[in-house]
Amino acid sequence: MDEIRIEGLKVYAHHGVYPQESEQGQNFLVSVYLQIDAREAGKYDDLSQSVDYGQVCALIHSFMKEHTYMLLEAVTENMAREILLRYQTVKSAKVRVSKPNAPIPYPFSDVSVAVERSWHQAYVSFGSNVGDREEYIRNGLLALENEADIFLLATSSMIETEPYGGVEMDPVLNGAVRLKTLLTPYELLEVLRRIEEAAGRERTVHWGPRTLDLDILFYDDLILEEEYLTIPHIDMKNRDFVLGPMMELAPGLVHPVYRKTIQDMWNELQEKK
Ligand code: AMP
Repeated sequence: MDEIRIEGLKVYAHHGVYPQESEQGQNFLVSVYLQIDAREAGKYDDLSQSVDYGQVCALIHSFMKEHTYMLLEAVTENMAREILLRYQTVKSAKVRVSKPNAPIPYPFSDVSVAVERSWHQAYVSFGSNVGDREEYIRNGLLALENEADIFLLATSSMIETEPYGGVEMDPVLNGAVRLKTLLTPYELLEVLRRIEEAAGRERTVHWGPRTLDLDILFYDDLILEEEYLTIPHIDMKNRDFVLGPMMELAPGLVHPVYRKTIQDMWNELQEKK
């Protein structure tokens, strides 16, 4: 990946755990490494296709001045987020902030904290089979869109499917979205659960009726098997209501466990019927 580097930008600011640090301030050195695709900007010698590093320096400078954090971890975390939200063409940002005059009673040359944060691409399924199903889904997607760290990129159509798992209930309206997010998988799950709860979802019967069900299908090409989170979502190869919407969004996407495309999984499921 191509990279823009800003190194050692000096800013006098007021971050630190000790009162004299937040009151009197000190010099900080900020270095930022931005992963971009510089091909088009390079080919056409066109700044508008890249990131103006002068502007990024101005952003860093005012960010450092306008906030007061105790920890360098908080400075770097929030600065990386600000840069990624401001410059959507930046795929990943590594931010290092150092405090060469930190109040440490030993000789040292520098102390710093660095974090690297990126956009992630995820697919989330939605389903509803109670009341005004479309309304529950529309409101759920609106709530997702209103999250600061989530951008919806594409939405499948809604398809009606018979309920899965052997419980007697009304047909389900299903679909999926592609999104990009700065959230970790667990943070994304938390957001989905909050939106489900706001829709009045009660977890009484497993596989039971639901006002709104939101599940993470894929998160980059992550494979995760933990107690509360399995990614990719389980048993996808047998589920029309997952593969159908995914066929609209990303037929060529390769499932990182099965090592098959959505299209291949879809074809195999149709042959089984
Ligand atoms: P349900 O809403 O009935 O599909 O179940 C939701 C629960 O399944 C959540 O509370 C999660 O802890 C767990 N879970 C495991 N993997 C996933 C996933 N990929 N997406 C959403 N929920 C998951």
